[in-house]
Amino acid sequence: MNAGSSAKRVPRSAELRVGGLVRLSTCDWPGELVATVFCQGCPWACGYCHNPHLIPPNTEAAIAWPEVMSFLDSRRGLLDGVVFSGGEPTLQAALPEAMRAVRALGFRIGLHSAGPYPERLAAVLPLVDWVGFDIKAAFAGYTRITGVAGSGGKARESLRHLLASGVAYEIRTTVHSALFGAPDLADLAADLAAFGISDHKIQPFRAAGCQNPALATAAGQVG
Ligand code: SF4
Repeated sequence: MNAGSSAKRVPRSAELRVGGLVRLSTCDWPGELVATVFCQGCPWACGYCHNPHLIPPNTEAAIAWPEVMSFLDSRRGLLDGVVFSGGEPTLQAALPEAMRAVRALGFRIGLHSAGPYPERLAAVLPLVDWVGFDIKAAFAGYTRITGVAGSGGKARESLRHLLASGVAYEIRTTVHSALFGAPDLADLAADLAAFGISDHKIQPFRAAGCQNPALATAAGQVG
């Protein structure tokens, strides 16, 4: 889902920098009626990213955090939860406090993460009810997808924290045929099996928002 936006304001340093807010979603947390907060900033640069405007960490906020809280306050009892998505939510130091504030309103907390910051992920897991965890590829093949050396090791460590936490999760992978072939899928399945994971969701590549012309026009999903 693409991030929406409203009036632009610069957040205070301690506030979550929000790049967009979807006020009602039925697909960002399976089975839950949620609002989705799109957090600004991501340290990786996946060519197929469909929210590339959320990658720069210091872009001014699309919607001020107090405005998000005010909206959520008006939805108490009407929504099941709030999903923090991105971008990469764990990039922001303000995430734990934002989660505590939203939990205090009575919402369950969902998190979308690709795991680039294992220790920060571990720190927020006690505040989270469900994680949608993006696995980019077999850990040895991450750099090809994210453009960042060492990203596979970060993701592996984050997955270790997630599994140890006991928090409910969904593991999913976006597959684009130009980046991912059948051998890559087999390598990924082997890495996940080593963690005891057999339930793994393949997400189709979506061209909407992708700013890489070669990937946006090439056939997307592996058949
Ligand atoms: S990790 Fe997610 S938000 Fe970051 S660049 Fe990749 S697809 Fe985009």
